[in-house]
Amino acid sequence: MPLWDEYKNSIWMLPGYMDGIIRAGGLPIILPLCGSEEVFSQALGMCDGFLLTGGQDVSPALYGEEKRYNFITTYPLRDKLETIVLDRAIELDLPLLGICRGLQFMNAALGGTLYQDIPSEFGTAISHRNAPPKSHASHDILLEPGTPLSYLLQEKRIAVNSTHHQGIKRLSPILKCMARAFDGLTEAAYLPLKKFIWGVQWHPELPDLYCNDLNEKIFETFVTYARLGRNKY
Ligand code: MN
Repeated sequence: MPLWDEYKNSIWMLPGYMDGIIRAGGLPIILPLCGSEEVFSQALGMCDGFLLTGGQDVSPALYGEEKRYNFITTYPLRDKLETIVLDRAIELDLPLLGICRGLQFMNAALGGTLYQDIPSEFGTAISHRNAPPKSHASHDILLEPGTPLSYLLQEKRIAVNSTHHQGIKRLSPILKCMARAFDGLTEAAYLPLKKFIWGVQWHPELPDLYCNDLNEKIFETFVTYARLGRNKY
């Protein structure tokens, strides 16, 4: 999914998302962020997997709340179209990787709730919004043993970057936590019923100094599942 520039009224894309997919052997395309669900759904039909990028805050309406702060910026069209993406990924068991907002969106769409603003609503000593450069590691996370992320990375604790002001409050009843920050905040989750529906709160497309290879593994796994799906049909 493309990002949305509310000042230029234009879609845009950070190269890291595309590069991550290309390095893993996949072919990234940017979906049309348009009002026609029919056109959008047709474009989805060309895809073997979906990456939900970062971006504006998820509309609180999605998890049954009113917007509590004026600084929250939403883009309801994205919420609407990403609901179609998530439905399709679940229905056809296609791989989906949610990054930052992508994880938050998955959680809200699947029945969870969000902190609308971490500094205002969640007391923590950890800075989840690191100063530039954004790619540098900001805080550590603990991987939950026995989850696919811990199998994949073969680590107990890794350093991640962190550029989010929202976060998961109540985890969706059908998602399972794969990693937490030391303040308890969920930093990765997955849908155990499906092959690869994962979300991470950090930005693997901006590999930091410490866990570059680990982030590449996430892209590789995502693309491998997309390729497996393609070979089947
Ligand atoms: Mn964080």
